[in-house]
Amino acid sequence: MTGVAAPAAHLLFVEDDDATRAPIAANLAAHGYRVVEAATAGEATRAWDAQRPDLILLDLGLPDRDGLTIVRRVRREATTPILILSARGEEHDRVTALEQGADDYLTKPFGLAELRARITALLRRAGGGAVDGAGQMTIGPVTMDVARREVHVNGRLVELTPREHELLKVLMSRPGTVVTRGRLLRAVWGTGYSEESHYLHVYVSRLRRKLAEADPSGRATDLFVAEPGVGYRVRDDPPDDA
Ligand code: CA
Repeated sequence: MTGVAAPAAHLLFVEDDDATRAPIAANLAAHGYRVVEAATAGEATRAWDAQRPDLILLDLGLPDRDGLTIVRRVRREATTPILILSARGEEHDRVTALEQGADDYLTKPFGLAELRARITALLRRAGGGAVDGAGQMTIGPVTMDVARREVHVNGRLVELTPREHELLKVLMSRPGTVVTRGRLLRAVWGTGYSEESHYLHVYVSRLRRKLAEADPSGRATDLFVAEPGVGYRVRDDPPDDA
């Protein structure tokens, strides 16, 4: 089946072999994905830092560094799905990649339909248990479509920057639980930022303001509870207007 692939999901495709990468990237783009290509681990790391993609397609055999270094790096910072694309003969590396936090793998050569099916499944799961069968997370009046990168409040689209979106996603994917400042900072900004609590304060304020503009009742902003000295929590028992 072809189906409509998640239109705006942003993929980072790491593969050093141009002849392999180019046609697959073109196919994914034709199916509506936004694809950023990287041919080395260095390029991949820079793209990860700058763009925070929704999913990473990762070849393990890269010319400058082992692809496993990217798995470890991304996993220290975020839950972003990683799909390993491994060659025959890389079985050991593939297992190591999964043990270190990659989510799934495909062995080359693979079919494009299979690749797209795996991508769709991983994006659906990306928000954790909070994501429903339609790929959405909903808490109170706020709905996030994980694959489309859209947030609606009471059905009204809210424009968020990539970091605001990522911050909201990390919070919404763990409803009811406290997310520490360090974890949020690492997930949204990167490992070097775990002490920069003022970033969080600023971004949470902006996020609250945007949600409040879309929902003057305050129900959306009441979802965020600051936990002094610890971090933030999104209520899983939002105040109900019933
Ligand atoms: Ca390779």
